[in-house]
Amino acid sequence: MKILIVGGGGREHALAWRLNQSPRVTDIVVAPGNPGLSGIARCVNVAADDIAGQVALAKLERPHLVIVGPEAPLVAGLADKLRAVDIPVFGPSARAAILEGSKGFSKDFMAKYEIPTAAYGRFTEAAKAKAFLDRFTAPYVLKADGLAAGKGVVIAETRAEAEAEIDAMLGGKFGAASATLVIEEFMHGEEASFFALCDGETAVALAGAQDHKRVGDGDTGPNTGGMGAYSPAPILDAAMQAQVMDKIVHPTVRGMAAEGRPYRGVLFVGLMIENGKARVVEYNVRFGDPECQVIMARLKDDPVPQLLACATGGLAGCKRMERFSDPAVSVVMAAAGYPGEPKKGGVIRGLEAANKTPGVTVFHAGTAQRGEDIVANGGRVLNVTATGPTLQEAVKRAYQAVDLIDWPDGFCRRDIAWRALARG
Ligand code: AMP
Repeated sequence: MKILIVGGGGREHALAWRLNQSPRVTDIVVAPGNPGLSGIARCVNVAADDIAGQVALAKLERPHLVIVGPEAPLVAGLADKLRAVDIPVFGPSARAAILEGSKGFSKDFMAKYEIPTAAYGRFTEAAKAKAFLDRFTAPYVLKADGLAAGKGVVIAETRAEAEAEIDAMLGGKFGAASATLVIEEFMHGEEASFFALCDGETAVALAGAQDHKRVGDGDTGPNTGGMGAYSPAPILDAAMQAQVMDKIVHPTVRGMAAEGRPYRGVLFVGLMIENGKARVVEYNVRFGDPECQVIMARLKDDPVPQLLACATGGLAGCKRMERFSDPAVSVVMAAAGYPGEPKKGGVIRGLEAANKTPGVTVFHAGTAQRGEDIVANGGRVLNVTATGPTLQEAVKRAYQAVDLIDWPDGFCRRDIAWRALARG
């Protein structure tokens, strides 16, 4: 089989790395890809959100399956355009990707199908939005309706801050994405990520993970796209996974089918778990980054039959992917300045030695090739990913590899997986 992967970060590197191990796969193309893929995939320089360019590439390459990594091309309808030319796609149509593309849609949908989530209101007028704050106490949760490059959620500590943010968002802070605003109840508890595979009718559990959003040790400092992740997540034990499938995933897939928006691809549910009950924080319509890296590292069964079934139907008849290896952890190495303006261009050495550490694979997230050198070319630059017989051992291996990487501009958190390690 030939597989085309859309995207160029650590998530797409991890997908290509795992698919390269499948006996069914002979050829992998990644667009745009990154230098870490050399030797396992052919990279073609088409941007992930260049919809016309991606369709033209797929028509030229005629892959047996396209896997779309990021959300933006899905929300923009890439999967629809590929299906229209008979190319199987792992990823939802635009009508289904609206689960991530519009917070207002997803909240109304959850209310209709009685899927547990925070109480909310949806607003286009500042005065009404401000009056709605009376229902809650601080902190206040404000969300831009549309995609805002991961920056559309604001947790305001005071009423004054919340009111100022309402004016800013409805005043066009995120352009059309914040013309509508969702205000919701602040949920307490422990966050976790759950992933299920769906073919429009059937959903099967894949795995759970937890990530670290704050830039600094001890979960301090500004929010980021994610500074590290691990899987499995102890809080998502078998009973909790069964609850999430029963109360959230199955009703979501049934509800989307009933709405005429059948959901195909991976459904990533962001959860808040308190007192044994899981509620939805948000839906995502693609793999998490860096959660994908740890899930791919753990997966022993060949994922190709299930990924293909998500695209073409028949997931119910597929053998479940049940064999997972030891725990996995991924430590993100970011460039100085991140999550603000990152320092680009610094030479990264020691990657070969790091990759030789037992159980370790270094995925590239934001690198570029400059002559013979690999240089930093983004905020989150490397995902140092390790498996081990225990989570402790996986963490030790990951940091051993981190310490072999010679990149003066790079930094990482030193406490990835602390929550799971603290449970013992
Ligand atoms: P989202 O992009 O919707 O996942 O929101 C980003 C982050 O904001 C989440 O990972 C949570 O940490 C936090 N968050 C979002 N909504 C809520 C909520 N209703 N209560 C508490 N925290 C929230």
